[in-house]
This record gives sequence, C-alpha cells and structure tokens, in this order.
Amino acid sequence: MEKRRYVEECMQSTFKTFGYREIQTPMFETLELFTAKSGDAVIDEIYSFSDKGGRNLALRPELTAPVMRFYVDKLQMEPKPLKLFYFGNCFRYDRPQKGRYREFKQAGCELIGTDTPIAYAELIAMAYTILEKVGLKNMKLNIGNLSVLSSMFDVLKLPKDKQKYLIPLIDKSQFEDVLSALHNFGIKKEDADDFLDVLQTSDIKKISNYVKGERKAKEELSNLEKIIGLLETSFNVKNYQLKISIVRGLDYYKGIVFEIEAPSLGAEKQLCGGGAYELISMFGGRESPTAGFAIGFDRTIVALEAEEYQFPTPKIDVYVIPVNEDMTSKALEIVQKLRNQNISTDIDLLKRGIGKSIKYASSIDAEKVIIIGPKELEQDSMTVRDMKSGEQKLVNINDYPPSSQRI
Ligand code: AMP
Repeated sequence: MEKRRYVEECMQSTFKTFGYREIQTPMFETLELFTAKSGDAVIDEIYSFSDKGGRNLALRPELTAPVMRFYVDKLQMEPKPLKLFYFGNCFRYDRPQKGRYREFKQAGCELIGTDTPIAYAELIAMAYTILEKVGLKNMKLNIGNLSVLSSMFDVLKLPKDKQKYLIPLIDKSQFEDVLSALHNFGIKKEDADDFLDVLQTSDIKKISNYVKGERKAKEELSNLEKIIGLLETSFNVKNYQLKISIVRGLDYYKGIVFEIEAPSLGAEKQLCGGGAYELISMFGGRESPTAGFAIGFDRTIVALEAEEYQFPTPKIDVYVIPVNEDMTSKALEIVQKLRNQNISTDIDLLKRGIGKSIKYASSIDAEKVIIIGPKELEQDSMTVRDMKSGEQKLVNINDYPPSSQRI
C-alpha cells in the first residue's frame, strides 16, 4: 500500500497541475449502461448479477460510461471544458494472468466540451507526463486515428461486416492474416499490399495520399499534424509514433486514439489507452465533444518494479525509549507533544532494553531516538540520538524539537 499510495499521490498531483478535478462514481451500475455501447456480447466479459429487486446490475468494467452517466445526470450545466479525473477499481471476467486481473484499479480522466488540437495534445501529454512523473523510464506512445482508419476501409470499399472481421486482426497486429483476409474478400493484390503498407507506416504524408479523396480523413490528418506539432514543441513529448493500426473498439471511440506501452511488461504491456469518443447522446444528454484515457494502476506498479524503481521507503521521525516504567508518563507526554506537531513518533510498547529498542528503531528507519532516563530527567533533559551518525546529545526537553523541525 505504501508503493500504491505513493504512485497514487503522484498521479493525483499531476492531474491537478493540469487543471483536472477528482470525481468518484459507484462500484456498480445498471448492466444496461455497459451493454448500451458495446452490445450484449460484453456481458461475457463483466461481472453482472440481479439484485433482490430483480434489477440487472454490473460491477463496472471501466469508468468512462459511469462518468458520462454522472455527467448527463448532474454536470451538464457546468462551465466547459470540464476536466475530471478518477481512481477506481474495475472488474472484468478475464482469464487472470500476469498483469491481467479480475479486479484492478484504473487512474483515468475525461475531458468534456472541447475537441481542439491543443485539447488533445494536452490530454496525451498529461497521460505521458503522469507516467513519467511516477518514475517510469521506458515507455512507447502510439497515436492513431479511427476516422482515418475508417476512410482507409472506404478506399477499399469494404462493407461494415468485413471491417468488423478485420478489426481484431489489426488490433493484434496480425498483418499476414489481414492480407489473406483481404485476398479472400476479393481485393486485388496490389490494393491489399498498399492498404497494409499504409496501415504500418508512420509517415503522415503517405497516409494522406492514400485517403486523398476522403474529406473527413484529410481534416483529421491535418489536426493530427497539429497535435503532434504541439506535443513536440510545447509539451516536450518527442517519444511517440504514429500508428494508424490502433483500433480500441471502433463502436466506442472515434477520431484520435492513443496508447502507451511499457516494453518491460512483456505480453500485457499496455499501460494506458484513450482517445475521443461519443457516449453523451446515447445517455440522453446534449452532445458535446468528449475524450479521455485510463491508466492501468496495477500495471504501472508492476512496470516500475520491473525497472527496479527505488520507491521511497517509509520513515519514522522519532522513536522514544523510556528506560524504566517510571519514565513512561513523561515519555508519553513527549510523544504526544511531537505527534501534535505532525512529527511521526513511536514509543517502545514492549518494555525492551535500550539496546534492543535501538535495534528496532533502526529496523523501522527512525531518524532520531529519544531516551528518557531518570538522571537526565532531573535536569529536564533527555538523550537524543541521531540514527544516521550515531551521535548522542543531551537536550533540554523544552528545546525539542528544534525550531527547524517545528511545523
Ligand atoms: P481499457 O479500459 O481496456 O482501455 O484499459 C485501460 C488500461 O487498464 C489498460 O491499458 C491496462 O493497463 C489496464 N487494464 C485493462 N484490463 C486490465 C486487467 N484485466 N487487469 C489489469 N489491468 C488492466
């Protein structure tokens, strides 16, 4: 929990420095909230149940739909843009494996009311900055666009059912299988080769040439260029790649999409996924642009551990040792005085000898040990030992803590 709290506080403060405000939604929702966007097939992937009133409910598998429900219910009148962040446990009926759990935590955000290139650049930069600030060294940021991918399908005049077949293959980068599927669909070899070539390029001009007849794609690509420009020049995020094969479920997202991976994680390497999407009108609200992302919190910890990140170790400021029972009440008085000044303080509760107590104090990383003995107490004094240097000093009780440590 110390590692997790440290990472959570760090993420939280980065969200706040980008002007986001925290919200929380319930752990369970109506099942319909999740089937509305993804269809009944999603039921297999979530924990759902009916309650005593016969209502169909689900433990949330993610937080975007709940946040959008909350927005439509309560926040539509708030001034835009609305910048919301959250931490929350999610539940998926997945096969558990390393980095894939049935209960896991997400840190995420939703940006409501703007779709400008600067808004998207800021969103992507924030995801990257959050992971950078928690201390991750090795990350890969991939940026794609689903409107562009959709236009690429249109160039081949592929009907929706065939697109649906290809999407999971593209998602898993199984490009050989995409190629053979295209042949089976009766697409000419050179057209299929061209499609595959563009799918795997990060050259925006090449993509632009391929979809040149498609107005929407041209507009999206021009915005993508602006976003990338801003990321590089204004947000100092240079370590990205254009990857038009990012899919993330076409029925949900639309337009820009992005993912951040940690190669150190192996098979389950995706740390963050996000993009622009449309849900508000489905929940009965007035349409407004929306985008967001979710970071896998548990995977972030696993990735930091894989990189041998040195998490700050917990410390205690002061450990107090009364040398005998008569000293207890004076010792407790000092302990409480220090605690009231926000100095973390512990006291020997086992009546151990001084030697053993000092050993214990060292094991809990105490910075100072205070020894309260009768002789010293006669002069209103106590012994303060610096645990790093081993140096001991006689200090007047009223002079401790020194003013530099007082809060
Ligand atoms: P998604 O909502 O599927 O886009 O997931 C966002 C992030 O949550 C992913 O990039 C993962 O880091 C994390 N994640 C998703 N599913 C799981 C899971 N079953 N266990 C742990 N982390 C997960």
